[in-house]
Amino acid sequence: MAIISPVSVSLDPQHFRTSVTTNIDLRRISLKPPTIFGSKLESREIEQTHSRLSSFNSSACLTMKASREPPGLTQELNNKPEGLADTENECDLFKNLKHRFLSFKKHKYMENLEQYQKLAKAQAPKFMVIACADSRVCPSAILGFQPGEAFTVRNVANLVPPFESGPSETNAALEFAVNSLEVENILVIGHSCCGGIRALMSMEEEGDSSSFIRNWVVVGKNARLSTKSVASNLSFDQQCRHCEKESVNHSLLNLLSYPWIEEKVRKGVLCIHGGYYDFVDCTFEKWTLDYKESNLKEESVEFSVKDQLFWC
Ligand SMILES: [Zn+2]
Repeated sequence: MAIISPVSVSLDPQHFRTSVTTNIDLRRISLKPPTIFGSKLESREIEQTHSRLSSFNSSACLTMKASREPPGLTQELNNKPEGLADTENECDLFKNLKHRFLSFKKHKYMENLEQYQKLAKAQAPKFMVIACADSRVCPSAILGFQPGEAFTVRNVANLVPPFESGPSETNAALEFAVNSLEVENILVIGHSCCGGIRALMSMEEEGDSSSFIRNWVVVGKNARLSTKSVASNLSFDQQCRHCEKESVNHSLLNLLSYPWIEEKVRKGVLCIHGGYYDFVDCTFEKWTLDYKESNLKEESVEFSVKDQLFWC
């Protein structure tokens, strides 16, 4: 067990008294047959759709792009080789995605048909994962989560807002994962060179309040404060690196501000974990909040962790 020195987060006991429940069983919603434009497709229609999609080649792509342009622009496009090159590039991207999808279908879906058919009826993931939107830190790619294993939300800087911040897509996903799917683990994954954390660390106190990025990353202001107080002697890059981990710990504490999360953690049916993926040297650290050993009721929170692992 390790104790992370007191962090400057005050957990207001008020948050623990509010109870939020949901009577909506969202799992049932996922059982509905897939619909396209509001109506179920018959198998013949699916075949036709498939054959139409198969014939979607580069010339079709060009036609679609050209048909959206006014005639003058279309004429100009036809005369410009670089315009054609752009269009071909676009088509290549989707050709590539098509091949990847068909390869997934052939080698994963069809070869594990029974499992995928089971998943089509319901999901029962053991993990809820909160990771950064950064294109380099896909949890499925780095931790090998397979379909059905991790209910995932990704946002800028993998932040969990506290309960009092009100609704966001992150806590909506948490509510569903914890109360409906009854996941047993929540894992918040931070990462190296995080642009969102850099934005948090470099934001002006009285900055542009119309910036969506600023208004989101300010959720991590306590992590920024504690980083500034303990790491002010370090370079800005090192401060950002410190804050990348510090913000994960603050997010773990923020998770406990949700009464329905705190209750399950207290009862031992839900564990909350932090993770840190360093993509510069490809290492992964994992730690688990030790709820029993943590002193979470005091003004100065003593946050204990256990089961620390370092994979390299
Ligand atoms: Zn990031």
